[in-house]
Amino acid sequence: MMKVTLLSYTPDPEITVALAARTCYSSKLPLAISKERAEHLIRELIERGHESVLEHASFTFAIEGISRVTSHQLVRHRLASYSQQSQRYVSVKEADFIIPPSVVENSEAQELFCKAIEESKKAYQELINLGIPQEDARYMMAQGIATNLVLSANARELLHIFRLRLCNRAQWEIRELAQKMLELVKDLAPAIFEWAGPPCVEGECREGENSCGKPWKKREK
Ligand SMILES: Cc1cc2nc3c(=O)[nH]c(=O)nc-3n(C[C@H](O)[C@H](O)[C@H](O)COP(=O)(O)OP(=O)(O)OC[C@H]3O[C@@H](n4cnc5c(N)ncnc54)[C@H](O)[C@@H]3O)c2cc1C
Repeated sequence: MMKVTLLSYTPDPEITVALAARTCYSSKLPLAISKERAEHLIRELIERGHESVLEHASFTFAIEGISRVTSHQLVRHRLASYSQQSQRYVSVKEADFIIPPSVVENSEAQELFCKAIEESKKAYQELINLGIPQEDARYMMAQGIATNLVLSANARELLHIFRLRLCNRAQWEIRELAQKMLELVKDLAPAIFEWAGPPCVEGECREGENSCGKPWKKREK
C-alpha cells in the first residue's frame, strides 16, 4: 500500500555537488567536471566530513499510503520540507488504515483492529451528520489512518534520515519508507549514497546492548 515516487531532483546531482566543492578550492569558478572526478571528489569530501556541499543536491518524493504514526516521526526531521494531506479539507470517512504486520499475523488481533476502525469511521460520519466540522470530527480517528505527503530534502539531510531510519532499531514502517527512498536515489548519486545507512555502515553501532548484531555493509561502488 505504501508507494514512494521520486517527483523531481537536481539534474546531475553529483556534478552539482562536486562543482560546488571545487569552487572552494579554485581560483576561477569551475563550471565543468567529469563524472569520474566528481565521484572521486565526493568520496573524499564525505570521508573528510565536508558534508555541507551535499546540500546543493535536492530530491522531492511523493509518499502515499503511510500511517500518521509514521508521518509524525518523519516530520521530526526539521531540515526537510513537507506538504501533507489535510484532514480539515479532505474527509477521512473512507480513509484507509495501515495495519501493522504483527496484527495481520494474528487473526484475533486483526478482527479487533478492523472492528475498531469501522466503529471509528461510523462515529466520524455520525459527528459530521451532527454538524461537527471535519477538523473536529477527525480527533477520534486512530493514528494508523493513512496519509499522503510530499517531502523535499537535500542529500545531506537524506543521509541523516537514512542514518536514523534505516537502523534495524527504527520502527518497521519508517524503515520501509527510508528503504524505498534510498532505492530511488542511490543510482542517481552513487558516490553520495554508497554511505547511506545506520552508523554500523562505518563499523560503529551506537545502540549498545540494544544492538541488533546485524551490521550494515557499505554499498559497493
Ligand atoms: C529510533 C528512534 C526513536 C525515537 N524516539 C523518540 C521518542 O521517544 N521521543 C521523541 O520525542 N523523539 C524520538 N525520536 C525522534 C528524534 O528525537 C528526532 O526528533 C528525530 O530523529 C529527528 O532527528 P534530528 O533532530 O537529528 O534531525 P533533523 O531535524 O533532521 O536535523 C538534522 C540535524 O540538523 C541539526 N539540527 C536541526 N535542528 C537543530 C537545532 N534546532 N539546533 C541544533 N541543531 C539542529 C542536528 O545536527 C540534527 O541532527 C526517535 C528517533 C529515532 C530514530
